[in-house]
Amino acid sequence: MSRFWNKLVATLDPYVPGEQPRIQNLVKLNTNEHPYGPSPKVLAAIAAHTNDSLRLYPDPTALVLRQAIAKRFALTPDHVFVGNGSDEVLGHVFHALLKQDAPVWFPDITYSFYPVYCGLYQIKFRAIPLDQHFKIAVKDYLPDSVALSASGVTVSVDRAAAGALAAGPSSSVAERAGGIIFPNPNAPTGCANPLAEVEQIVAANPDIVVVVDEAYVDFGAQTAAALIEKYPNLLVVHTLSKSRSLAGLRVGYALGHPDLIQGLDRVKNSFNSYPLDNLALAGATAAIEDEAYFETSRNAVIRTRDALTAGLQNLGFEVLPSAANFVFARHPGHKGADLAAGLRAKNILVRHFNKPRISDFLRITVGTDQQCAQLLTACRELVVGQ
Ligand SMILES: *Cc1c(COP(=O)(O)O)cnc(C)c1O
Repeated sequence: MSRFWNKLVATLDPYVPGEQPRIQNLVKLNTNEHPYGPSPKVLAAIAAHTNDSLRLYPDPTALVLRQAIAKRFALTPDHVFVGNGSDEVLGHVFHALLKQDAPVWFPDITYSFYPVYCGLYQIKFRAIPLDQHFKIAVKDYLPDSVALSASGVTVSVDRAAAGALAAGPSSSVAERAGGIIFPNPNAPTGCANPLAEVEQIVAANPDIVVVVDEAYVDFGAQTAAALIEKYPNLLVVHTLSKSRSLAGLRVGYALGHPDLIQGLDRVKNSFNSYPLDNLALAGATAAIEDEAYFETSRNAVIRTRDALTAGLQNLGFEVLPSAANFVFARHPGHKGADLAAGLRAKNILVRHFNKPRISDFLRITVGTDQQCAQLLTACRELVVGQ
């Protein structure tokens, strides 16, 4: 606390990223990085651009990268916004599109950066509880369900009560959403909703922006990108940090109707015209274009995830069904904090969230086969004792 801080800075509750310790032989399964390196074509493109041209500013419109992304999703570049990691893209999304008079809705258990943006940009929010299986229940995001019930569709009455509980007693149960955002697959649960359910939410909320944060979609969920031309209120956010193995390059993007993209551009050009440097632009374009490498390396992660899930289940863990590059698991006989500390003592880092409902879970990133074997051995020692 400093007397030079303004009032807003004093109230912020910043995001705490997973640790990045530089310890030798650490099995690092705490921040959902890809266990294998990026495409060799990415490294070659970055090397090719590491020269005197760095004296020049990069293209502020990032056109070549936006063209490559647009081509992959059969869209045009004016459907594409790029930023310095999807965290920056999401920040602009909250600022430009989700800051409305009514609160933004998102799940109570989700990416913990969302409430942080709300604090920074002074946005009201409502946390909608996940259901008892830790899934996003579509009915909780359908504002017209009351009207639908009049025409014969059954609506669970606990919906409004659950929302009111999450938002606190002072908020009106009837208050509509000013915007909706959720990850699919959700984080940190790894659970995915089918595309038809995502579409239901988008279609039921035509007057507000619905943002689907697809940071992990490539590991087993269906992207909503194909719905963009049908729904002008849909924004899909992707990152190159997870499935393209480029967390260190800091590139993310959003896909949506050109009106949404222009809104994001207005905020971006009021903040930093050049969020992506020359090397990031070259590397990201090469990554998007190398579909074969992408397929092979994400399939390897999916195979290892399925083996890791089976291994944990054999040790008595409950593992939520994951469509991501991590699993969310708990053991009936052990506290999450104890397991995380026990693993750490064995030089294995996983993520533990000391939060209601999930404090007994560990979020374990899918590493190499060898790292996952080490993790399973350590877990066996902790839960079986040998
Ligand atoms: C990792 C992650 C992001 C951010 O990724 P960047 O590295 O900033 O591109 C966004 N949303 C979710 C749900 C994530 O897990």
